[in-house]
Amino acid sequence: MTGINEDYDVLIIGAGPAGSFAAERLARGGARVALYDGRPEGEAKACGGGVTSKALKAWPFLLEAGGRAVTEVEMVSPAGECVRLKLAEPFAIYSRCAFDSYMRERAERAGASVFDVRVNASGQKDDEGRWVVRSRGGMSWRGRVLVAADGANSATAKRLAGPLSNSDMEVAFGYRTPLNEAQDAPTVIAFLPGWAGYAWAFPRLDHISFGIATAQDTFEHKALDQMLWDFMVGYYREREREAASSSRGGLSLEGVGGVEERLRASAERYAARIPGLAPETFDSRRAAGNDWALLGDAAGFADPVTGEGIYYALRSAELFAESYLAGEVKSYERRWREDFGGELRRASKMRRRFYGRFWGGPFTDRMIKLARAHAGIRRTLRELVAGDQGYLDLKRTLARRALNPF
Ligand SMILES: Cc1cc2nc3c(=O)[nH]c(=O)nc-3n(C[C@H](O)[C@H](O)[C@H](O)COP(=O)(O)OP(=O)(O)OC[C@H]3O[C@@H](n4cnc5c(N)ncnc54)[C@H](O)[C@@H]3O)c2cc1C
Repeated sequence: MTGINEDYDVLIIGAGPAGSFAAERLARGGARVALYDGRPEGEAKACGGGVTSKALKAWPFLLEAGGRAVTEVEMVSPAGECVRLKLAEPFAIYSRCAFDSYMRERAERAGASVFDVRVNASGQKDDEGRWVVRSRGGMSWRGRVLVAADGANSATAKRLAGPLSNSDMEVAFGYRTPLNEAQDAPTVIAFLPGWAGYAWAFPRLDHISFGIATAQDTFEHKALDQMLWDFMVGYYREREREAASSSRGGLSLEGVGGVEERLRASAERYAARIPGLAPETFDSRRAAGNDWALLGDAAGFADPVTGEGIYYALRSAELFAESYLAGEVKSYERRWREDFGGELRRASKMRRRFYGRFWGGPFTDRMIKLARAHAGIRRTLRELVAGDQGYLDLKRTLARRALNPF
């Protein structure tokens, strides 16, 4: 099929959280919106799927997307010490297939036209100055405003705002392993010995997402993969030990052989990049022009310490929609900088210190050691997991609460 489709006000490439939420807000405001995504049905975006309580408070409707509520998190230090944090406000872990479909359906219900197709925006405009987007099958669409919401490897953002270097990127990889719905499995965040980054175990409704996130320019696959396997095998062994010493069902793997053998037979691997912009890149890279904008990962909006990107994908979509509906696309640049740009830039500056040293040892070792002894430090960590504790004053707050826990 070839030909030009009808005209739109806004063409959005990518229907992840950023693209779908922008489409929904714009369509509700009366804009004619086309939203494109070429991901095959049932194929999930590689992601831990963790959504902080800060995000759940900002957009309570997300609770309808069917996540698993997390009320307790285990944090493990590089030295192997562990602290259990009971969260005052739960966060949620979603299957990305379910989350993305839910957001896309909301956009469609609001009136956006959704196309299941991979498109290419070569930066070309027609004679009337409208952007032209094309599919491989020969279809093309025209629109006044072009939005790149096509993720961390965004080809559209590269054309509109220039490429990102390896030092602006994190790498995350991991495995999905089986989990029976009735099984109880803890949520774990483990800081890595000798690496800037962490490993996680995020149980979802029907599987566990294990992963490691670290900087792309120091990434060493073999060593990190071994570290992740040790973490996964240790996690399952601990659950089998717990099950053997209690009457609860516990978490077990089907099959024959040892834990590692059974895990290797069932684990599905995934890998992807997460933006983690350097402070200078935050200063120099633009996310909006007169008739274009970048949202979410395509703009580089993820927390450089934790890799959290879903909150920023949704918030950037909301700010862009407000700018467009106010008739000032370009004001989105000022809005994102004022709203969360400063905090992300500070996180980027803090990154080295967070994974560096504090009071004579790795900061994360010290933080967890102190948390085991002090209720005040546990409170700060709970707020960090909730998304309510910023980085700017993290060390100061930790030091103050260590000296005066209440
Ligand atoms: C392993 C891993 C774990 C993570 N864990 C977490 C976590 O626990 N919590 C958290 O908050 N964040 C996490 N993140 C980050 C989070 O996944 C991203 O920040 C978030 O998905 C960004 O949303 P987005 O809408 O900007 O982009 P995406 O979710 O990447 O969506 C982009 C969409 O664009 C589509 N697309 C791309 N190119 C085209 C094209 N040419 N035509 C049409 N469609 C196209 C893709 O198919 C995709 O659906 C993690 C990331 C990784 C890699």
